[in-house]
This record gives sequence, structure tokens and C-alpha cells, in this order.
Amino acid sequence: MHIVYKSEPVRGAHWQRWLAQQAPDIQLHIWPEIGDPAEVEMLIAWQPPDDLTTLFPNLKALLSVGAGADQFDLSQLPPDLPVVRMIEPGLTQGMVEYVTFAVLGLHRDMPRYLQQQRQQQWLGHASLPAGKRRVGVMGLGELGQAVAAQLVSLGFDCSGWSRTPRMIDGVTCWHGEQPPGDFLARSDILICLLPLTDSTRGMLNQQLFRQLPRDAALVQVGRGPQLNQDHLLAALDSGQLRAAVIDVTDPEPLPPGHAFWTHPAIWLTPHIASQTQTESAAAALLANLRRYQRGEAMVGLIDRRRGY
Ligand code: NDP
Repeated sequence: MHIVYKSEPVRGAHWQRWLAQQAPDIQLHIWPEIGDPAEVEMLIAWQPPDDLTTLFPNLKALLSVGAGADQFDLSQLPPDLPVVRMIEPGLTQGMVEYVTFAVLGLHRDMPRYLQQQRQQQWLGHASLPAGKRRVGVMGLGELGQAVAAQLVSLGFDCSGWSRTPRMIDGVTCWHGEQPPGDFLARSDILICLLPLTDSTRGMLNQQLFRQLPRDAALVQVGRGPQLNQDHLLAALDSGQLRAAVIDVTDPEPLPPGHAFWTHPAIWLTPHIASQTQTESAAAALLANLRRYQRGEAMVGLIDRRRGY
């Protein structure tokens, strides 16, 4: 089988060497070297070339190197071309680490203590045990479920919301097209782990923030366009929200001088919450290619109607 990789070249070189050892029947070409394009069955990419299907007339699937597929313009792809996102343990573990860091930081009031440190102010405030901190996870998929399980193990009072019903041990689960008011009203720390779709674009807005408990905090690790940035700033300035940890923005990077760079209640990171880990992802990729060869559905297949 011939596959083409078009993304970060160091990872590509590693996968090429690894596949040559583990699966010599699979030949990985690193863009712009593509071998005989008529033989190429899979393209692994972050951004595919514009003329994808003309270039690769026998393409059987497009694989994303990342956890989402929202970077692809699905409307420009042949409707019957399977699109597959990356699901691999290293990516999941990275997200669990980042969100745990963010929730613990917010739980222990770290944004406030960092501001106090800058002002050389030695002043303690009452703290709460984790069991009294209500955390809400928006999106209970691959990542949301792993994050919720970790937060439960740390003793947080955890709930979650997804489109369709989910059951997770120790987590109060809600479902439906819109986040239920009761779910938002009990989210002292709200985590967004939703994919970017038409229904989640702009979802983190003033109307939603107003339904959170006063003094709530936000962890935004989904995708930038889900957040209305002006509404967040207004919610922070009015005291509706006390802090936000933001890993994804629109655009990325934010322009110089943007309010998020210096806002005292915002922790901003440059879309690093979780990354595809070269070694664990190689094994996940090979397992998926083998599924395809056996005629089985690949893990991470995007439902083109839902958009995720
Ligand atoms: P999944 O597809 O496995 O899970 C998505 C979850 O969101 C599902 O529970 C789904 O509901 C729910 N959902 C989707 N749309 C809606 C909606 N309209 N209303 C309610 N719930 C909805 O995705 P992952 O968990 O793997 O990843 C989630 C997102 O995390 C990615 O799409 C990406 O945007 C982001 N991400 C960010 C990274 C970073 O570094 N910041 C790294 C990796 C991912 P249901 O269960 O019913 O299908």
C-alpha cells in the first residue's frame, strides 16, 4: 500500500522509518515526494493539496494528523471520500494533563495569586476541597471522557454534556443539542472539549456565560471560533467570570496588542494543550491501516452529516 504524508517532516521521517521496519508492505512517501500518484490510497495531512482527487485518482481515504478534521473544507471533498481523524493515546494523555493543570490552577485560585505576587501582596483566601468544586465538561467524546474520568479520580464533582446520551462512572451526564441550563448552573469550572461545527461555532457567548454560577471559570481547549472573545472579556470585566484558561483562539496567533495577551485573568497558551505524539500515533496509524486492509471501519471516521 502507498500512502503520502503531508505535514510536519520530522514526524513524517520517523513514521517512514518505523513503517519500513514494522510494516514493509506499506510505503510512506513524504510530500512533495509522492511516488506514482495512481498508486496512492491514503493521504495523511493537516492541509491537503487543493487538487486532491485529480492528483490522487485512486485515493481511498484522507487522514488528519490531528484530533479534529475541522481544518478540512469538507464541502470541497468528494462526498464519498472517508475522512478520518487521529485518535491515539498520547494525544489523549496530553489533553488530560493540560486540563487537569488548568482545573487545579483555577480550583486553587492561581490566577489571583499570580496577580497578588506581581503586586507583592501576601494574602491568603479560603479554599474549597475538590469535592465542593463543580466541574462541567462540554463534549464527552474521546478526550472529554478521559478528562472527566481524571477529574473524578481527583475528587471533583464532575458533570458533562454531549449531543447523544453517554454514561461515565461518577459523572452526571446530560445530553441534547444545546447545553442544558441546569448543567451550566452547576459548572463552577466549565471546560470546552467540543469539535468545531456549525452548531458549536460561537457557543461560548454572553448568553451561555450568564447561565454559569457567578465567579465561574472557563477552560477553552476546543477550537477558537467557538468563543466570542468580546463576550468573554465583558464577562471577566463584570465579574460574571473570574478567570479563563485559553489554548485556542481565532485567529491563531492572536494579533499583537490583543487584550488576551495581557488580561490579568486570562492564561493564554499557543494551541499546545495536546499534540499528536509521534511514537504512539505511529502505532495507532498502523492499526487503522490494517483495519482498512481487512475491510473494517477505521477508528476516527468523521460523520460528514454531523461534521465531526
Ligand atoms: P469526539 O468527536 O470524540 O467528541 C466530541 C464530543 O462533543 C462528543 O461527546 C459529542 O457528542 C460532543 N458534541 C459534538 N457536537 C455537539 C453539540 N452540538 N452539542 C453537544 N455535544 C456535542 O472529539 P474529541 O474528544 O476527540 O476531541 C474534541 C475536540 O477537542 C476536537 O474536535 C478538537 O477541536 C479539540 N482538540 C483540541 C486540542 C488542543 O490542543 N487544544 C487537541 C485535540 C483536540 P456525542 O458524544 O453525542 O457525539
